Amino acid sequence: MVSDTVSSEVMRFDILTIFPGFFTGIFEHGIVRRALAEGLVTVEMHDLRAFTHDRHRTVDDRPFGGGEGMVLKPEPLAEALAGLGIAPRAERSSRSTTLAPDQDNGGSFDSLRSAPAAQDDRFVEEPGFAGGTRVILLSAQGRPFTQTVARELAKLERVVLICGRYEGVDERINELYCDMELSIGDYVLSGGELAAAVVVDAAMRLVPGVLGNQASGEFESFGVADAEIDSDVEGVPRSQHGAGGLLDYPHYTRPAEFGGLRAPEVLMNGDHQQIRRWRREQQLRKTLANRPDLLERAALSAEDRKLLGAIRRENAGD
Ligand code: SAM
Repeated sequence: MVSDTVSSEVMRFDILTIFPGFFTGIFEHGIVRRALAEGLVTVEMHDLRAFTHDRHRTVDDRPFGGGEGMVLKPEPLAEALAGLGIAPRAERSSRSTTLAPDQDNGGSFDSLRSAPAAQDDRFVEEPGFAGGTRVILLSAQGRPFTQTVARELAKLERVVLICGRYEGVDERINELYCDMELSIGDYVLSGGELAAAVVVDAAMRLVPGVLGNQASGEFESFGVADAEIDSDVEGVPRSQHGAGGLLDYPHYTRPAEFGGLRAPEVLMNGDHQQIRRWRREQQLRKTLANRPDLLERAALSAEDRKLLGAIRRENAGD
């Protein structure tokens, strides 16, 4: 479903694809459907074949140099982008808006094209970035699409997503038009459409107003640290810590007993401090078990480090 409500405040996604029908139904559920219906966000699909001029509506051609498969031709893509008012990067004024360097590594959205991949988890916003347009090529060769990137994209006015097919897109489209190549994981999909849907979903839910309860976007896996979140709600201490780059803690609901397992008692005693502490410990345990790599970049307090040390010793059987 595509909302036709367009205003300068509404975030807009444009998806360039040879399979616009692929998206039928994909945006018609839950939060995404509501955001579109309420006109908070729009998603437009653009059929690349509409920008061809031959009888067969040809969008691909054989690769120079030989080898397997076909390559998406540059002309239909360039024409589609021009039709959307997207000039080559060199001519776009938004190219001068950058993301400020983090304290320990320099970088901007533009420089992310060539910066080491680890940096894209660290960039922070500079005034002037929000509200711009970015053109993104979905590619297995791209830098990882992370929650941090999703948060940054959610601040933009417009995100244009190019879906490759076959062996990919003629590289000159990347060089001339794309601000960034994004990969949704270390595997090869048959096309960029699924990846585009992932990017739209993850970024859209972070657009202000889209999540019914804005806090649910703050307290989840890969979320920001406590320091970036209001600590209390109307004087009531929160029962969660900001993830600070860790995974989420486990969740439980009624019944209190299920399959012979009881939900943790601590969650039922109403003591927010205890619940907060227990949840933090679970976040650390889960991250250590499933994604120890995240711990290297997580925002950990002295208490977290102590807890982590104890968990490690426990795991080692000390
Ligand atoms: N020859 C390419 C390679 O080895 O990297 C793979 C091309 S793939 C079969 C076709 C298209 O699917 C790509 O152009 C890209 O748009 C999309 N794609 C595949 N894997 C992806 C991933 N992990 N993330 C984002 N897009 C992906």
